[in-house]
Amino acid sequence: MANNGKVYLIGAGPGDPGLLTLKGRDCLARADVIVYDRLADPRILGWSREDAEKIYVGKASSHHTMKQEDICQLLAKLAAEGKTVARLKGGDSFVFGRGGEEALLLREKGLPFEFVPGITSAIAVPEYAGIPVTHRKVAASFAVITGHEDPTRPHSGINWKGLATGVDTLIFLMGVENLKNITARLVENGRPADTPAALVRWGTHPEQRTLVTTLGNAYDDVQKAQLKPPAIFIVGNVVRLRDQLNWFETKPLFGKTFVVTRARAQASSLTKRLEEEGAAVLEVPAIRITDPEDYAPLDNAIDHLAQYRWVLFTSANGVDRFFERLAAHGKDARAFAPCKIGAIGSATADTLDAYGIRADLVPATYKAEDLTEALLPLLQKGDKVLLARAARARNVLPDALRAAGAGVDVVAVYRTAADCGNKDELVAALKNGTVDCVTFTSSSTVTNLLDALGTEKGLLDSVTLAAIGPITAQTCKKQGLFPAVMAEKYTIDGLVEALKKHYAEKH
Ligand code: SAH
Repeated sequence: MANNGKVYLIGAGPGDPGLLTLKGRDCLARADVIVYDRLADPRILGWSREDAEKIYVGKASSHHTMKQEDICQLLAKLAAEGKTVARLKGGDSFVFGRGGEEALLLREKGLPFEFVPGITSAIAVPEYAGIPVTHRKVAASFAVITGHEDPTRPHSGINWKGLATGVDTLIFLMGVENLKNITARLVENGRPADTPAALVRWGTHPEQRTLVTTLGNAYDDVQKAQLKPPAIFIVGNVVRLRDQLNWFETKPLFGKTFVVTRARAQASSLTKRLEEEGAAVLEVPAIRITDPEDYAPLDNAIDHLAQYRWVLFTSANGVDRFFERLAAHGKDARAFAPCKIGAIGSATADTLDAYGIRADLVPATYKAEDLTEALLPLLQKGDKVLLARAARARNVLPDALRAAGAGVDVVAVYRTAADCGNKDELVAALKNGTVDCVTFTSSSTVTNLLDALGTEKGLLDSVTLAAIGPITAQTCKKQGLFPAVMAEKYTIDGLVEALKKHYAEKH
């Protein structure tokens, strides 16, 4: 039988999951087994197949979880079994990544492998700190050096004289623990003690921290700031450019941690927007989107869609769920041909658009009251309206329409259920003081999170609370919570804008 086993040695980049290459992601998506290190962001693993086996082989600088020889043997064994293996390493496999060693063993055993280059932290981490490794008229060369080697060793493999005087920018990896020796050696060998230097910890992550110093003061300053690995130490005049080029740490929400309580399936849009603004995000879904208790009313409505003059959607979820059910009936968007369509909110309208339906009515703001007001003049006596929405939603909209004489059928297309699987993670983060703000994107996120927290809900008093709109804010207040931030426009973007404004004012 042909053996199709192969190992892809993939550089996973410096941390920010967006810095994995497209080729790396493709290989990851194909792999049967993922063998990964500590520095690979866990979210990168999310691009692998759900059924792929995931093997953690560690590698914090001093306590290796699995010995290098064992990792090499493991890769060989898996490839020999015919598996497609993604060997994920931080940064690039060839920059102090021992990728060469792993491949040499595979070559010895006649097993196939490929390298997929990654973005090395040596260049990307300074870049995220606003420090270019070369710059015209400032630095024409750079060197990447291991800081792991004991520089006091009599036969150091490092040419300190050459580095100190012959290379413009010096980039030390794994150097925090040896900083005293590294800086002393460079000064001894002719690099001026007042040369600018910087230490960047957890580069490209929301936790990134940069200390700017000089070669002479670096050791003391790093001690004082108690900066621990992983970090990169950069020496050279390019460090000065950070004053103008520091772009990442100056993002509006940089350094802040937000809790996103939306359902897992919907969380990503808010998470992504917050991360774009530099924030760290902890997803703690307080709700789960699930089937309605009874599909019969929806099925009945689908069978008789032509009788409705208007079909109204109140959420993107409602639209997705409706179309899923429609497909299950063997139907598609043409089923709506006799109807007019109304949507609350631009996200709902956009979702309809994705199914090829342009909403006839999208009220300027996002409350049910506004849709009612906009719709009433368009209704004729006897018109039937179908309201497709979550089970147990407010009755403002159907009540107002009925009062105006319309026949309204309300059908549940989905239901939100309480879900707070990683509540313990939230409680721990609140207790550690690492959370800055908890965001609420609907009333049910508020009530469900409070239920889940139970007697520990007092922990929310010490953080900023943000509500997507007045209804959610009202629910908060009823429960004794007082949101300091409320979106002016009741959308995800509106919420993010309000948060940016809030934190800009606090600075
Ligand atoms: N192959 C990797 C480097 C492995 S050596 C690469 O190409 O990036 C591990 C060292 O890399 C750490 O000790 C630290 O010095 C550096 N490093 C890796 N990721 C880092 C990050 N996000 N922030 C700061 N330093 C990082």
